[in-house]
Amino acid sequence: MAEKLVLEVVTPQKAIVSEEAQMVVAPGSEGEFGVLKEHTTFLTSLKVGTLRYKDKSGQERYLFVNGGFAEVLPDKVTILAESAERRKDIDLERAEQAKARAEKRLADKASEVDMVRAEAALKRAIHRISLKRTT
Ligand code: ATP
Repeated sequence: MAEKLVLEVVTPQKAIVSEEAQMVVAPGSEGEFGVLKEHTTFLTSLKVGTLRYKDKSGQERYLFVNGGFAEVLPDKVTILAESAERRKDIDLERAEQAKARAEKRLADKASEVDMVRAEAALKRAIHRISLKRTT
């Protein structure tokens, strides 16, 4: 029987979280899912969105995650994200600038490749802004 659940959130740049969690809720590509210790093993891709967890002391913590994958084991949740940051580390002004840049690119109707990139950048910026402002 699993004694505890550990959450690891890792990006190509660095480890963002490595700590015990009472519960983890992540934005799976098929919908949000919640994990408690002793969950069945599974693997899923993630959408751009918010990951939240309850730390050891029961405090709720929030992170922005830019897609990626989650591996769930009975005693561990590993999130491999393209980028991620804790809510407290989100720079609102930077996200607002990224949103404005993406909106301008979309309005300018550049090449198709640029439009796809601008749409993805806009989505990241909107999620960061709403996480920073609402929770
Ligand atoms: P930007 O255009 O501002 O770089 P982006 O969406 O292209 O935004 P990402 O590729 O998702 O940025 O992330 C690159 C790095 O910058 C990651 O380490 C990510 O955590 C960090 N980052 C991006 N935007 C913010 C933000 N608004 N606040 C804090 N960190 C951010």
